[in-house]
Parts: sequence; structure tokens; C-alpha cells
Amino acid sequence: MMRRKLVAGNWKMNGSLATLAELDAIAQAAAAAPGVDVAIAVPFTLIHPAAVRAPGLAIGAEDVHEAESGAHTGCVSAAMVREAGASFTIAGHSERRADQGETSHDAWAKAAAAHRQGLNVILCCGETEAERDAGRAERVVQAQIEKSVPDHADGRWFTLAYEPRWAIGTGRTPTLDEIAAIHAIARAKLRHMIGDAADGVRILYGGSVVGGNAGDILATDNVDGALVGGASLTAAKFVPIIEAAA
Ligand code: PGA
Repeated sequence: MMRRKLVAGNWKMNGSLATLAELDAIAQAAAAAPGVDVAIAVPFTLIHPAAVRAPGLAIGAEDVHEAESGAHTGCVSAAMVREAGASFTIAGHSERRADQGETSHDAWAKAAAAHRQGLNVILCCGETEAERDAGRAERVVQAQIEKSVPDHADGRWFTLAYEPRWAIGTGRTPTLDEIAAIHAIARAKLRHMIGDAADGVRILYGGSVVGGNAGDILATDNVDGALVGGASLTAAKFVPIIEAAA
């Protein structure tokens, strides 16, 4: 099945009203690559101004709370980010797992809550360095998928991102064979869980994607795009990744 490539940025706890100016050139590059979907997840406070500034880009949240509303001081719901202009959210990013103790079950609940509000979801999985060294990367990713992917997931709203934790922000990446192996296993696991709908689900690779390695990574079997942290913060670094996907 033909799946459109998706290049998604994740600004994490970076950015300001001033740096939203980067979106202008990113939106231009996205318009020049009509075969590629381009999305950027930004901090909650920037969702609305980003959506106003770059109506041609998919602007998203980096997380949502799993409840619809209520007594959850400091949290933000899927309905709130949608109202602010988000069309998607990330769920289960490894930094939330590490910093906030989120589990795969939490990621599942957040993905389901986001979908109920009409948001698309990029759900993250990926092993630690110790797990890879112990030869457990494939089993860890399979178990995360098993626990976090909603059973009604399909490619219209759901995207999986494989992000080995040891590759995030480190400048290190797995080999292309290692990426292909995990993506194949992830696809097989999805097929086991959701049947033929798995063929429509995009599986992104994330972890130290930059302009220089994007072409090779995006040409790897079962890699349907990239989730990009550091290199999404400036148009100078992000645009070459969009161009590599085109
Ligand atoms: P990185 O982050 O591109 O800076 O490695 C990727 C991510 O965490 O999504």
C-alpha cells in the first residue's frame, strides 16, 4: 500500500512567539512538497499562535490529558488543544515516560481521548540502550505496541513512531538494517492487532534525524516518515528533511 510520507517536528520545551517566524519558511517548503505531509508539535502556549501564523501546516500538541475535563491542575485536555488549533497530538513520548513516569497504558488512554476529540495521534515507542544491548529491543517495542495501540486504530488518524531512546538528541542512530528490522516487526505486530488496517498506518522513525541522514532513513522499508526533535527548531535544519521526503 502507498502511504504518504509524514515529516513531523517536535519542539519539546522550546520555542517562543519570536521563533514562530521559522514556520514561514517551513510552510513554504511544505507547500512545495505536496506529496509530503508536514506537521509540527509545539508547547501548549504556542499552539494557537502557530495555527494562526501557519494555517497550511498541521499544528499539534506534545501531550494531552486522558480525561475530558475536571480537577487536574496544570493539565490540558484534547478538547482544549483542538480548540486552540491543534489537529494532532503526540502520545507516549519517551521523555514523558522518563520525566512523568507515563506508561504504555497511559499512552493508550491519551491516544483514545485524543481520537474521541477528533485529533490525529502520533504514538511513540522505543527501547532504552540497556534493552538494546541485552538483545531485547524487538520484544520491548512489541510489548509497548501491544499495550498502547487502541484496537480501533487506523491510518486515517493513527501514526506510530519508533524512537529508540538512546538515539534521541544524541546524534546516534541505529543502522538502516536495525531500523528496517524494528519497523517490520512493528508492522507485523500492528497487523496482528488491527488486521488489514495496519497497512494504512504510517510508522515514523525518530531519533537524531537530520538533513544528512533523512534521505537514507526515509528510503528504508516500512519507514513512512520522521519524527524530528532538535532539527525541527529552525527552518534551515527542518526544510532539508521535508525535501528529502519529497
Ligand atoms: P531528536 O528528537 O530529533 O532531537 O533526536 C526526536 C524526538 O524526541 O522526537
